[in-house]
Amino acid sequence: MDKKICTYICTGCGIGEALNIEELSAVVTGEMSQECKTHACLCGTEGRAFLESEQKSEGINTFNICACSPRVMTKEFDFGDETITVRANLREQVIWVAGSPEEGQEESHQEWLQETASDYVRMACTRAAKTALPEPFQLESMNKEILVMGGGIAGITAAIEASKAGSKVTIIEKADVIGGKALGWAKQFPTSYPYADLEESSIASMVAAVEADANITVKTGTEVARIGGAPGAFKVTLKATGATSEWTAPKKITVDQQDLIDKGTIENPNAGLKPYAKENPDADTFGAVVLATGWVPADVSEFEHLGYGSNDKVVTNAEFEAMAKNGKLGGINSVAFVMSPGGEENDQDFPYCNSVTSMVALKQAKYVRESNADAKAYILYQHMRTPGHMELFYKGIQQDDGIFLTKATVTGVEGGTVHAKDTLLGEDLDLDVDLIVLAAGMVPTTKLENTINLAYRQGPAFLDLDLFDGYADSHFICFPYETRRTGVYACGGVRKAMNMQETMDDATGAALKAIQCIESADRGVSVHPRSGDKTFPEFFMQRCTQCKRCTEECPFGALDDDEKGTPLPNPTRCRRCGTCMGACPERIIGFKDYNIDLIGSMIKAIEVPEEDDDKLRILIFACENDAYPALDMAGMRKHKLNHMIRFIPVRCLGSVNMSWIRDALSAGLDGAMLLGCKYGDDYQCHFVKGSEIANTRMANIGDTLSTLGLEPERVRSEQVAITDYDKIPDLINDFVDEIVELGANPFKGF
Ligand code: SF4
Ligand code: SF4
Repeated sequence: MDKKICTYICTGCGIGEALNIEELSAVVTGEMSQECKTHACLCGTEGRAFLESEQKSEGINTFNICACSPRVMTKEFDFGDETITVRANLREQVIWVAGSPEEGQEESHQEWLQETASDYVRMACTRAAKTALPEPFQLESMNKEILVMGGGIAGITAAIEASKAGSKVTIIEKADVIGGKALGWAKQFPTSYPYADLEESSIASMVAAVEADANITVKTGTEVARIGGAPGAFKVTLKATGATSEWTAPKKITVDQQDLIDKGTIENPNAGLKPYAKENPDADTFGAVVLATGWVPADVSEFEHLGYGSNDKVVTNAEFEAMAKNGKLGGINSVAFVMSPGGEENDQDFPYCNSVTSMVALKQAKYVRESNADAKAYILYQHMRTPGHMELFYKGIQQDDGIFLTKATVTGVEGGTVHAKDTLLGEDLDLDVDLIVLAAGMVPTTKLENTINLAYRQGPAFLDLDLFDGYADSHFICFPYETRRTGVYACGGVRKAMNMQETMDDATGAALKAIQCIESADRGVSVHPRSGDKTFPEFFMQRCTQCKRCTEECPFGALDDDEKGTPLPNPTRCRRCGTCMGACPERIIGFKDYNIDLIGSMIKAIEVPEEDDDKLRILIFACENDAYPALDMAGMRKHKLNHMIRFIPVRCLGSVNMSWIRDALSAGLDGAMLLGCKYGDDYQCHFVKGSEIANTRMANIGDTLSTLGLEPERVRSEQVAITDYDKIPDLINDFVDEIVELGANPFKGF
């Protein structure tokens, strides 16, 4: 596209009063050599009409809007697929954070404000000049069928819901029948008002619905041998349950294991397997995968004081359910339901428990009462969780004279006696019962085995499952269902312990995500969190040194490689985070509208004044997911930010190439900060690993700066959440104070 650029400065929202617009226009028309026009309210009806007329009559196709934040008025400044819009944030991040001048500094204050605005205008003009119109990546052939792994409630629901939306679905189930654990339930929780009575299990009707659905194919006794390819074109090899296949994805081999294999001490577990980069020509093709392989009951034998495994009066909740289903509760007159292991850890639940295990205990207490009117049930809990309408079910149970509920720490089980203390009654308790039921939790199958068998460069399983206790999810808060492998959506027990109703809701969500992913791949655009993004990373392979950093650091396993280590991109797996771009030491990865040269040029567009303690320049790369909106919100609250700061929004901190920081400091900027999401156990990085990787890179750049004779304290990485808008100004202003203390960058002027 031949770009016709024009810069439009809005004088509304106080911008015209706070800034000298004539001077600002002169920056555009003078040093930036671009056309510039102003308007009193660009986002209003007249402003929009003016811009549309510019598009029509002047042929403008690249609009550089210098006004409010790029996060607002996106529709107003969207002029269609064949145009580019660049934004300079003069409102939220210049005039709204300027504050009032200190006494005696009125003139300087105005000068600083104008300098800040001029820098943002320069950067936007540079971006407008450097950016290009994206051309979406199109797969050669597209398949829209969904593979559902697992034929329990989650898998069945996902299949039915996807079918209702018009998708073809194949369910694979490793057992000989579909229905999953629900086939073994005696009754299910109440699903309608007054939420008092247990209901017959609805699984049979769900199975019948699947069997009657022409859009759904069911393959029982079947597992995945391997999944290669990418969304829209997954190549899936199936195998009979338990059988081996030459296409099974290779196991990951550690350096130590490789050493032992080389010495012949152990056998190569992958011997005879096809390498991951080769595709099975006979594999089935699918557009997306729903992972609904469910959960297994947790092992409770580690709690020796409770006697599971050695005392035949002690069973788990799963075993008790089977007894109820098989009519084996006759002759049982009293049952104690132990909800927490007690012992020393007296406030803990059993691992992998949550509200579901509380409700299961209530349900099973009702079985006891329904099987024998004189029978008694005792529920000993630390935490009773009955969310939503289940509170009514709980209240109903409380009214039953034959069910006793008390908070208690179980100290031990001997024969049929349960010893407990710290009860609500304020006294120790010795309960003699016929049976003791332990509330075993629900362990996701992903914790125990790799069922997904990915033929990916980064290995066959999801990465970092330990971080999430084995749950297959990539961002519980913002993107439920999404795993760290694009196009694979988790639901039900692999994602969280949940009851039947929750599982059905969850499966519906995952099915919709799978459809959304397929449709996005078909349109050549990204899925969450950059949904609709038409760009994708492009590689200038001639200069690739096969260092493998990009293939190893991509948080989503989007890049495979060949035998030499040359990356093989899979654009429909890519979430467009740019972590590969940040990793590449050769700087050969980039997007049409976001690349090393573009951001590097924006940095160079910042004017670096001669040495002056009041005119230091500190660059902050702010992550677009949390940090940048938090900064906008700080602006909306009129929190004052130091005038020496310049922000550049980035897709993820992972996309920050350290060359930008080196170049910035070599150009005389005085400090640089990365402001992004939290990483670690309670991470909220929207690209899972980006901010963590960036932090490691920053530690290394600190060393590089030392060798250049610059203080490593001039660079910093900070983690914030979107809700930190009140804290961010102090965090930034403190960093500025530290840079001021260090003094001007000695490279200034060179
Ligand atoms: S690092 Fe991010 S941008 Fe690069 S290939 Fe992976 S998902 Fe795509
Ligand atoms: S990081 Fe850059 S140089 Fe290294 S393998 Fe990837 S593309 Fe090639």
